[in-house]
Amino acid sequence: MPLTDSYGRAIRDLRISITDRCNYRCVYCRTGNNGAQFAELPLADYLRMARVFVSLGITKIRLTGGEPLLRPGIMDLVRSLAALRTPEGKAPELAITTNGHLLAEMVEPLKLAGLNRVTVSMDAVEPERFARITRVKGSYSAVLEGLRAACRAGLGPVKVNCVLLRGFNEDQVEAFGRFACEEKVAVRFIEFMPLEEGRIWSPEVVVPLPEILERMARFAPFHEIAHEPSSTSRRYRFNDERGEFGVIAPVTLPFCGACSRIRLTSDGKIRTCLFSLREHDLHTAIRSVLPDEELVRIIEYAVAHKEERHHIGEPGFVQPGRTMVHIGG
Ligand code: SAM
Repeated sequence: MPLTDSYGRAIRDLRISITDRCNYRCVYCRTGNNGAQFAELPLADYLRMARVFVSLGITKIRLTGGEPLLRPGIMDLVRSLAALRTPEGKAPELAITTNGHLLAEMVEPLKLAGLNRVTVSMDAVEPERFARITRVKGSYSAVLEGLRAACRAGLGPVKVNCVLLRGFNEDQVEAFGRFACEEKVAVRFIEFMPLEEGRIWSPEVVVPLPEILERMARFAPFHEIAHEPSSTSRRYRFNDERGEFGVIAPVTLPFCGACSRIRLTSDGKIRTCLFSLREHDLHTAIRSVLPDEELVRIIEYAVAHKEERHHIGEPGFVQPGRTMVHIGG
């Protein structure tokens, strides 16, 4: 019996942030003035927490951050995570979300260590605009090289996440359509959420799903295809079968009812929703040298109190104290 919350949702996906440092300063995510704000734990502690989660029915683990590839020892962590077994005796599916800057040279060892899939974040497919967004010179070519290396290594289907903001990069939709077909990657557009350091979010900045579809139709005709119920993304395939894209629409089309996710921050706090106003301190149990049973108790308590849904855009919505880079996207 997997972990199940009070709304009957099975919790299968764990996202672990292993650092809140990042080598990019994407303008919509970070102000660039604040660096890391939370502790990084010994990798052995993330491993122990992950082991307990997997014993409770977690089947997918995604490493994230900050930028997870900045964390020394990540290969050993991936190798140890790949050796975990679910109660059914299966290895958990292992994925990583990365800005891709360091991916080219790390992708082969990551695959050998047991990584299954890679998601790369890209918010433009033009080198200059890309560098303006990331505030790092030469970032586009580094990321493209990393993305291609991941495809060659068979760490696919490689996904590309693109956050769209009005007046900023919504004109990239068609170019991303071409990019998806040429590079054979699944591009997923993500609606901008109020989780940024600079507090620039407003409903007007969000580029909603219908507008994304309208823009993409100018590139090529497409049709919707089935997506897994717990998947965050609606999927579309180009009619000529050259490729596909997705839209993750947490703002205009929330998928909370099928949410199977739980998050662990770099400092060992459980978050049951990106927008949680309350965290559950799991790492204290490790610092206090408590047995696994105590970790199980904390995890079960957190899951039992998972929020029914987020309240983005509603009167009284409160933006959480932690922003995306410090939660783990
Ligand atoms: N550094 C890694 C990366 O770039 O993929 C992992 C962390 S990053 C915070 C994870 C994802 O969150 C990226 O795809 C980023 O674009 C996205 N993101 C950041 N702020 C966001 C926001 N306010 N709304 C939606 N997505 C956001």
